[in-house]
Amino acid sequence: MAEFIDYSVDDRVATITLNRPERRNAQNQQFLEELNVAFDQAAEDEGVRVVLLRADGPHFSAGHDISPEEMAKGAFQRIEETIPERGMLGIHEWEAKYYLGFSKKWRDIPKPTIAAVQGACIAGGLLLAWPCDIIIAADNARFSDPVVMMGIGGVEYHGHTWELGPRKAKEMLFTARPIDAHEAERRGMVNRVVPLADLETQARALAADISKMHPHALAMAKRAVNQTMDIMGQSAALQSCFDIHQLGHASAYGQTGQWMVAGMDAVKGNK
Ligand code: ZN
Repeated sequence: MAEFIDYSVDDRVATITLNRPERRNAQNQQFLEELNVAFDQAAEDEGVRVVLLRADGPHFSAGHDISPEEMAKGAFQRIEETIPERGMLGIHEWEAKYYLGFSKKWRDIPKPTIAAVQGACIAGGLLLAWPCDIIIAADNARFSDPVVMMGIGGVEYHGHTWELGPRKAKEMLFTARPIDAHEAERRGMVNRVVPLADLETQARALAADISKMHPHALAMAKRAVNQTMDIMGQSAALQSCFDIHQLGHASAYGQTGQWMVAGMDAVKGNK
């Protein structure tokens, strides 16, 4: 059974819940694997018409779990052990699967997906919200990507420019400051802002409305929009920016001997 992700289906709506609130829904490999299984279940179940992604606790997601405890075990430890022999290739491959790969796959599942976001949605949190078709934000939601502070040019999935336009994307990245729910709505990054107390009710009401539509028509409507984005270059740009991101890890490692966390301390002081 999943430890970090809850999954349920009720009246044609699958609800996927991020359930690691004590760690602010920070994501490690197990968390992402469980989330991916839940998306697969929802995609394959013919009884499911709409997917609702929500989070337990005060915050949607603090991003990738790069706490010292997590860095010292599991996936990150295994990746670091491959650096002497394989250079940065192990990092590139792991992030290609768990970050860019999962997010692109979830973006394209042939059913409407709705993210309900409250509190902080930081860096890797964007990799869960952005791939969803519709984002409902609580009035306390805030979205940020502070990865430039770690010496890297942004998270693994470069949605920024597509979601916010080039100038706001640059401001978000250059300053590491959050964009609040209302500004996100003005930019078209979220569909609507609702009071925190109404977030789940309103997201469920929208999911219920959409679930009454013809499933094949919904899949074709989604495909039409995503294909249009891809004809504009979105998938190729995401891949290209992912490769630029990997250059950031390599640069941090070259300067500090750490591909991620220690890079932050070294870079923070602008040495
Ligand atoms: Zn990375």
